[in-house]
Amino acid sequence: MANGANRAVLVLIDGARADVLRDLLRRGDLPNLARWVIEPGGLRTGTTVFPSTTGVAYIPFLFGRYPGSVGIPGIRWLDRRGAAEGRSWRAQWGAARSYCGIQGGWLNTDVVATPSIFDLVPDSIAICTPLTRGLRAGAHRCALQRVVLGSAAHYLGTYPALDRAVARAWLDAADEPWRFLFVVFPGVDGLSHLKDPLHPAVLESYRLVDRALGAFVARIRKQGSELPAFFVVSDHGMSVMREHADPAVLLERDGVRTLRHPVHVWRRNARVATMVSGNASVQLYFEPRSGRERPFTESEIPPAILEQLLALPAVRLAACRADTAGEEGGTGRAGRAGRAGGARDGEGIVVRTKNARALLTESMGLVRYEPQGGDPLGLGGYRELDDRELLTRTMETDVPDAPRQLLQLFGTQRAGDLVLAAAPGADFRGPWEIPEHRAGHGSLTAEHMEVPIAASVALPDSGLRTVDLMPTVLERLDVAVPSGVALDGVPFSKLAAVAEHLIR
Ligand SMILES: [Zn+2]
Repeated sequence: MANGANRAVLVLIDGARADVLRDLLRRGDLPNLARWVIEPGGLRTGTTVFPSTTGVAYIPFLFGRYPGSVGIPGIRWLDRRGAAEGRSWRAQWGAARSYCGIQGGWLNTDVVATPSIFDLVPDSIAICTPLTRGLRAGAHRCALQRVVLGSAAHYLGTYPALDRAVARAWLDAADEPWRFLFVVFPGVDGLSHLKDPLHPAVLESYRLVDRALGAFVARIRKQGSELPAFFVVSDHGMSVMREHADPAVLLERDGVRTLRHPVHVWRRNARVATMVSGNASVQLYFEPRSGRERPFTESEIPPAILEQLLALPAVRLAACRADTAGEEGGTGRAGRAGRAGGARDGEGIVVRTKNARALLTESMGLVRYEPQGGDPLGLGGYRELDDRELLTRTMETDVPDAPRQLLQLFGTQRAGDLVLAAAPGADFRGPWEIPEHRAGHGSLTAEHMEVPIAASVALPDSGLRTVDLMPTVLERLDVAVPSGVALDGVPFSKLAAVAEHLIR
C-alpha cells in the first residue's frame, strides 16, 4: 500500500468546525493538511455523537462505540442509586457525575468493559487525551501539561501554550517506535468557548495544528520512513451562544428543588436532577433521591414540567423512553410498534417539540420514524429506513443523525428520564459558569453535530460518523477486532461498498 499501511496517526482538533476548516483550506492557510492528508485521501463533513461534547465524543474514536453503548450518557449524569436519600455525602457527590472537574479520570473506569484502540494496538502513544484506558505506562504524553496548562488555559485563555506543548510532544514521538498515535489539540475548542468560533486567535489555532503536522511529516521523511496513514478529525462543532436558559433556575423559581452542579449536588428533597452536557444538552432525572434504578417512561414524567420545558424557545427537542405496552398510564404506542416490527416493548423513544411528537423504534436492522402529530425531526413524514440511509436522509435536516443518536443515548439506563437538545444560539448552563461560555456545543443541531473528517486514505461518498474512524484505523493497521466485540462503526472500505449498493 502506498501510504504506510502499518502505522496510523489520528489528530483530533477539539471543537474544529467543518466549515471553518474548509474556509481556511480555500485560503491556503492549511497547506500541510491539504498536501499530506486531503490530496492523497479526502475531506468529508461527518457527524459526531449526542451529546456532542468533549470526552463523551472521544469514545467513538477510541472505542469504536457510541457513548450510550458503553454506559456514558453525558459529561454529567446521575447515578440513580448512589444519589439515594440517606447515602453518605461522599456517595451523593460521586453519584452526581461530572467529568469536568476532579472526577475527570472516572470517565476511564465508567466506560463498560470493551477494548480501546490502545488495548488492541499496544504500540500506541497518546498526547493530551482525557481517555487513556489501555495505554501502556508512559505512553500518555503531556498528561501533566494537560492538567496544569489546561486549567490555566480554562481561566486565562492560554491555550496556545498547551497546543505548542502538544506539537512538541508529537514531534518527539516521531523518533520513537509506535504503530498508532493519538494527538489532541485542545486550543480551538477552548478559545472558541471564551471568544468566538471565528475569532482570529481561534483561526490561528487551526494554523498551529497545520504547522505541527508539517513538522511531523518533515521529521518522518527525514528518517526515510514511509508516511503513516493520517486521519484529522474533530469531536464536535461549535456555535455562538446568545442565551443561557438553565432549566434548574426555572424549576427552582417554581419551587421544584433541583439537584445540580456545581454546588447543589447535596440538595435535600430534590425533585429533579439536571445534568448539563456541552452545554447545549441536559438530562433530567426525576425523584433523584428515591434510589430507584429504573428510568421513567413518558407517562411518569410530570406533564407540567415537560410542557413548561418544551415551551422554552431554547429547547429544540425533548426525548424520553416510550411507555411499555399495557403499563398503567401507557399510551400503547410502543406496544403497537413492537407488534408490527418485532422490537421489544419499551425500546421506543418519544421525540417531542412543543407542537409535534414522533416515535422512534428499531427492529430487524431498520429504524422507524413514526410522526404522531407534526414532524419533530423534519424528515417529511413516516420513514422506515436502514441505518445508513437514514443518516444520509437526516444530513439534510437541522438535526443530522438524530434518530440513531437518540436511540444510542437511551441504550444506557444511566441516561436521564428526559433529555433536552438546545435550539441554535441557546444552552442550558446558568450564570455561574466561570468564565462564561460565549460559544458552545452539545446539542443535536447541525452546527454542533457536523465535524470535519479528513483522511489520507480513500473516503467513501456516503455519510460518515466519527464512530467509523476506529474500525478504519484498525483495518489500516491490519488489527482484527476480537471475536465477541461488536463495534458500532463501519470501516470506510465497507461503507464505500454500501454506498454503491444504495445508488443501485
Ligand atoms: Zn468544548
